[in-house]
Amino acid sequence: MEKIKVDKELCIGCGACAATCPDTFEINDDMLAEVIKDEVTEEVIEAAENCPTEAIKIEENKEDEN
Ligand code: SF4
Repeated sequence: MEKIKVDKELCIGCGACAATCPDTFEINDDMLAEVIKDEVTEEVIEAAENCPTEAIKIEENKEDEN
């Protein structure tokens, strides 16, 4: 299940998330952020909080963490 999502309607391609968290976000050819690694880390949460359009959604529901 996807934990991190970028709302393509909201993303303005500013690149802030990719700068904060280059392992997780990449700006694609459409100049929109894309999730390249679906793992929620503190940097991902920070990137979501700093996104100017709140385009990054994180599923907080806990699954088994083994
Ligand atoms: S910070 Fe938000 S608006 Fe900027 S590229 Fe990332 S998802 Fe898009």
